[in-house]
Amino acid sequence: MLQDLHVAVRMWQHFRGHIGRMRHQNSPPELAHDCALFLDIDGTLLNFSVDPLGVEVPPGLPPLLRGLAGWLDGALALLSGRRLADIDQLLGAGFAAGAEHGAVLRAGDGAIIAEARPDPALQALRAPLAEAVGRHPGTLLEEKRFGLVLHWRAAPQAQEALTELGQALAAPHPGLVLMPAHAALEIRQRGTDKGAALERFMALPPYAGRRPVFIGDDVTDEPAIARAREMGGMGLHVARDFGGKVEAVRAWLAASLEKGRMDVATLQS
Ligand SMILES: [Mg+2]
Repeated sequence: MLQDLHVAVRMWQHFRGHIGRMRHQNSPPELAHDCALFLDIDGTLLNFSVDPLGVEVPPGLPPLLRGLAGWLDGALALLSGRRLADIDQLLGAGFAAGAEHGAVLRAGDGAIIAEARPDPALQALRAPLAEAVGRHPGTLLEEKRFGLVLHWRAAPQAQEALTELGQALAAPHPGLVLMPAHAALEIRQRGTDKGAALERFMALPPYAGRRPVFIGDDVTDEPAIARAREMGGMGLHVARDFGGKVEAVRAWLAASLEKGRMDVATLQS
């Protein structure tokens, strides 16, 4: 019995090592010390959950991100659709961030770099959307300052009705735009995207003069993927470059940091 367990453990270790090597072979080249790192959160660093506030954060993730930020002399920023307060709640305060798809940009020292003006049209949509999710059990409305998100991960049958409603309600407002997301539809203000947010950060210290690297997983990430490439860096996609696995992204970041620290130690010795 005990021997069977040992055999099973050895097989698992062998298998895990094999997967690790496969991942390693297909992963992008490791991060360089002179890059500026921009990371989406949901679907890139964290797996999705039914409730966006119920996502699980592995205990090692915040220290990994702090380690990367330190190694890159502060040139790391999170670019997320989430509200600034939610980013801080999930990963801890102290990270530079482009929240709500770049509508709010905050530096690592807490200073607000840029902030859009909330569109009053969005306010008018809150009540009818809240009422609609009340009619579809399992759906929920995420209310942000610059966007409203209808989520139907736990109730996929509601997708059509909620999408039609979102389209109809947003149509009369030229300042609003519809963004499809993973099991969700976001109605948000026009005029900001993660590509513009990345570019804004890149004009400022400590990002300026570095090579931008961005990782994202969604339609809303494509402008930043494109912008990072245009600026001579790497624009990476979770499905295309990491086999669709947030674990592979985290492992790649951890390997880059480990190698980077070893290189620094070698240089200093
Ligand atoms: Mg995402």
